Amino acid sequence: MKTLAVTRPEEFIEFLEDDGPVHVVSAERPWKVLIVDDDPEVHQATLFALRGVTISNRKLELLNAYSSEQARAVLEAHPDVAVILLDVVMESHDAGLTLVRVIREELGRRDTRIILRTGQPGYAPELSVIRDYDINDYRTKSELTHTRLITTLTAAIRSYDQICALDENRRGLELLIETGNQLFVPRDVRAFAEVALKHLAGFLGGALNAVFCGPSEDAGEGRDHDELRILAGCGVYCHLEGVSLVDLDNETLRDSLRSGLAGQRHVFGPGAACLHLGRIHGKEALIHVDLPRPATDLARRMIEVLCVNLGVGFENVVLFERLRFFAYYDPLTRLPNRKRFLDRVDEEMPALASGGWILGIIDIVRFSELNDALGHRSGDLLLVEVTQRLQLAVGANALVARVAGDAFGLCWRPEEEGVSAILDVFNAPFSVRGHAIPIRARAGFVDLAAVPGGAVELLKRANLALSHAKQAGNQHWRFFSGEMESSTQNRVRLLTELRSALHQGKGLELHYQPQVASVDQALVGCEALIRWVKASGEAISPDVFIPLAEYTGMIVDIGDWVIGEACRQIVRWDAKGLPGFRVGINISAAQFREPDFVAKTAGVIRESGVDPSRLELEITESVAMEDPLSVARQLHELKALGLRVAVDDFGCGFSSLGSLNRLPFDRVKIDRAFVRELTPETQGDCIATMIIKLAKGLGLEVIAEGVETDQQAQLLREMGCAEMQGFLYARPMQAEALEHWVMCSTQMP
Ligand code: C2E
Ligand code: CA
Ligand code: CA
Repeated sequence: MKTLAVTRPEEFIEFLEDDGPVHVVSAERPWKVLIVDDDPEVHQATLFALRGVTISNRKLELLNAYSSEQARAVLEAHPDVAVILLDVVMESHDAGLTLVRVIREELGRRDTRIILRTGQPGYAPELSVIRDYDINDYRTKSELTHTRLITTLTAAIRSYDQICALDENRRGLELLIETGNQLFVPRDVRAFAEVALKHLAGFLGGALNAVFCGPSEDAGEGRDHDELRILAGCGVYCHLEGVSLVDLDNETLRDSLRSGLAGQRHVFGPGAACLHLGRIHGKEALIHVDLPRPATDLARRMIEVLCVNLGVGFENVVLFERLRFFAYYDPLTRLPNRKRFLDRVDEEMPALASGGWILGIIDIVRFSELNDALGHRSGDLLLVEVTQRLQLAVGANALVARVAGDAFGLCWRPEEEGVSAILDVFNAPFSVRGHAIPIRARAGFVDLAAVPGGAVELLKRANLALSHAKQAGNQHWRFFSGEMESSTQNRVRLLTELRSALHQGKGLELHYQPQVASVDQALVGCEALIRWVKASGEAISPDVFIPLAEYTGMIVDIGDWVIGEACRQIVRWDAKGLPGFRVGINISAAQFREPDFVAKTAGVIRESGVDPSRLELEITESVAMEDPLSVARQLHELKALGLRVAVDDFGCGFSSLGSLNRLPFDRVKIDRAFVRELTPETQGDCIATMIIKLAKGLGLEVIAEGVETDQQAQLLREMGCAEMQGFLYARPMQAEALEHWVMCSTQMP
């Protein structure tokens, strides 16, 4: 903002001066008095009578007109004539009265005071004229002796002055109301500062020397310093824009602003005022304004009213900035959030595509576990430290954002060491409250010059690269490639097909794998394993589609179907007279998380008429660890229904072995990975041995999965494992095949 030259001719503060103590005398503008008379002698006499007279410490400036016409011309040239001494009889016997009408109605001069003078008393105007045309006084010329003239004139000038002051007051109030709404237009503090000064200039009139001092705008852009700065300046201060309060070398200005800050209120000094607009959410705003003369009480009150308005506007703009901040920034790290990150990338795209720029996602490995273990406060501190290291590593020109709870978005230009160098920030452990915490991260990158697309697509692709990096063993980062996308597209297509298979009841089938007693290999049960054969005849492994279905939640519907189908199969077998062996059913984590899982399962079983003790639900230990309390409650409810429960894939997850005795399991299924590593050499201290001992100690039954060789079976038997399941005995098979298998094996001994 350069200058704020305001064209209003009046100076508000000046008009508010009253007759009280006078501060400045000589510089005052004189009162303009217009003498209208066709008799030159009257002009002379008046001039003589008023020579050297001052009224309210202001001199008089006499203007002369000898006819109505001249009077009109003078008035048009001088809008600020205070008093007119007007002859009634000039060209015509009532020329003066006609002129009065012109002055009031045509020229619209309502403030100017009029004193009518006439030679003869007989020419006195009607009372109604005096009233309607607001005539101050009516005197015969002889009545206007020297002293009389001065007192009459003094009274008229004072009343003119008062009318002007009232008028200005009214205009000021009107201005307050009219322009008040403009204070709600700006959307950031800087823009508001300019509007506020303009507003003040309009209010005080004349050229304004003022500064608006407020919170640094970049506080809203994520940085946390509410340092005060000159956000706008005008008049002699316009060059100060952007200077912070501490760096301000104009001592008077700095002291003035400091005094307003210290007292948290307006401070009116002899030549200036510091206006305190308020403090909200730790942000403050002040205006320093030079005043040509000390403000009167009335002026102060008006300024105070104005400041209330400015204060409301400031509060509004701060609230708006806060809203914007919370919508676009992460309050913890003060980094842009996902939305803002995407916007910024889109905005800068043309430059970013020019080469060398990389968009990346950095994901902290197992952050939620860390968060639970350390406590959320420490988790927060950790994120802040990660933020700082990342910012340092990529430099000021780069963009760092928090795109998810445990993931950061980056857009930067890596140096020669390449993108992987960014992961080096995780090499040294992080220190949180005196503890050294090692954390690992994985990353997915997109080369912006090589991969087209908007920010949303690019982030998606970086995410895809990240998920590939998560699956990769040793390399902790991946660059996006087109093949990654086609494999994703394949997965999406597969899911669509799976959904329609489920809905149409076509292609999904349960196979059953026998479970035998290790002593005599007699059938004790079987595990139901889902199979999917597409219409094309292609069989899809459950290892492929189950994780997909889990990821999308479709597993809940699939799981319902599995339980129902297993129950129907038991009913069919019972009808055929098969022995009443138990059937194991795999339950995935997503099913268990459904709040109505127990009730729904109970309903299905009840409807089928199957004895619940025939069913054994297999739950992986990672499910058990998710929310131990609610899992324990659900398991107890399932057991109360008469169902059995087994821990599947035991030994693979991160569960403490301690969870085993807290949860009411019937059986432990040793994962086939541990069966595979079983040899006479390892038998002594392998995991399988440990699990069997532990289970026995807790009174749990044990079954070994994936038994493929006689040697494995032999060793397991020696270790006391009572049941086995594996290709050595039988592969999973269709229900009818199992019927045959049961017939044959029961006939065998
Ligand atoms: P799981 O629960 O561990 O199931 C046992 C898996 O081991 C089955 O694989 C089975 O065919 C395989 N297996 C059995 N004996 C041997 C052996 O001697 N050697 C080897 N190498 N493998 C053996 P499958 O049928 O491919 O199932 C894979 C996984 O898919 C299952 O692992 C289970 O987690 C999941 N799954 C299968 N059916 C269902 C289901 O109905 N619901 C849910 N939620 N998951 C299921
Ligand atoms: Ca299983
Ligand atoms: Ca298993």
